Amino acid sequence: MAEITPFTYESAPSRVVFGAGSVASLADEVRHFGFRRALVITTKGQAALGEKTAAQLGDLAIGAYPGAVMHTSAEVGDAGCDEARRLDADCTVAVGGGSAIGLGKVIARDVGLPQIAVPTTYSGSEMTAIWGVTTDGVKVTGPDPKVLPVGVIYDPELTVRLPAGVSGPSGLNAMAHSVEALYAQNANPIASLMAEESIRALGQSLPVVVKEPANLEARGEALYGAWLAGAALAQVGMALHHKLCHTLGGAFDLPHAEVHTILLPHASAYNQAAAAGAMARVARALGANNAAEGIYDLAKAVGAKVALKDIGMREADLDRAADLATRNPYYNPAPVTRDGVRALLDNAFHGRRPAAV
Ligand code: NAD
Repeated sequence: MAEITPFTYESAPSRVVFGAGSVASLADEVRHFGFRRALVITTKGQAALGEKTAAQLGDLAIGAYPGAVMHTSAEVGDAGCDEARRLDADCTVAVGGGSAIGLGKVIARDVGLPQIAVPTTYSGSEMTAIWGVTTDGVKVTGPDPKVLPVGVIYDPELTVRLPAGVSGPSGLNAMAHSVEALYAQNANPIASLMAEESIRALGQSLPVVVKEPANLEARGEALYGAWLAGAALAQVGMALHHKLCHTLGGAFDLPHAEVHTILLPHASAYNQAAAAGAMARVARALGANNAAEGIYDLAKAVGAKVALKDIGMREADLDRAADLATRNPYYNPAPVTRDGVRALLDNAFHGRRPAAV
């Protein structure tokens, strides 16, 4: 019998519509919430999809705004809020990844407009009530119940154009939420169920997704895994891995999903002994002997980069990165030491396969 340790469970309400072709129900969803003036938000790269979505909404849309960028600078956030006020929008519909949804969150926070999210990556932002804004190169994040999208449409058909080079790291970004959810300080059995199932779904689908981008079954399973990962992330606190990604992404301007992909095997090896139960669940979900090796091998299998040196990190900055990541104390299953983190970063810098523990 497994011992159930005491826990607090809290889950915020949000409505999810899932399935191939489900974006066709977007107008119904807008009506379901009683909205009439939707502002469609995308990044510049997805502008055409934004126009198409606004056209699909017809009278329910008041425009498409392709102004979202990764990490939402304060200027980008302000410009989005101005546009929403100028057009007198009553909701936003973000179509895209965490960047588009991130701008919708800032508009929700500052203008009070609810958001319907249509995610086309696997990063999971649509499930959380966390906003993020970057000012002078420093990213600040914070919780606000207003920014949790009220509705989410997961349509695998919208993800078939997501390139393999984005799909793989994006999926491992989702997996990172699930791995850390399993050993979170405030872990709970429901979030852990979602986390383990999400690791299984992502582990099985991502290698197929990168080889057969139009395989709707694999795309659907990856999106399902991403949803569960985002839902787990929304419920529990994160630890060393997310702290390191946040630090490296912010201080050295490294790409978000790639940093997650590269660091996750090494953060897992770091916590293997201290969180053996959680790591056994990760290994089981991946069908691997060991969590860290299983994640590393998955990253290789999806063709992702596995070394920080290959995504723009400089070896000369590793000491500073270790200093920054250990400056303030935070929860982690294994004690966070400066030497330990420096060694972890060295392994990640060179892309070494984590040794079996
Ligand atoms: P993204 O939204 O920046 O998208 C990545 C790239 O993929 C972009 O170039 C985009 O144009 C392209 N793209 C997206 N969908 C596509 C599609 N269907 N077809 C072709 N190309 C497509 O990437 P992301 O990793 O989803 O989001 C990263 C941002 O989200 C970061 O700012 C991160 O901090 C934030 N984030 C926030 C949370 C949270 O809970 N607040 C969680 C995860 C990520």
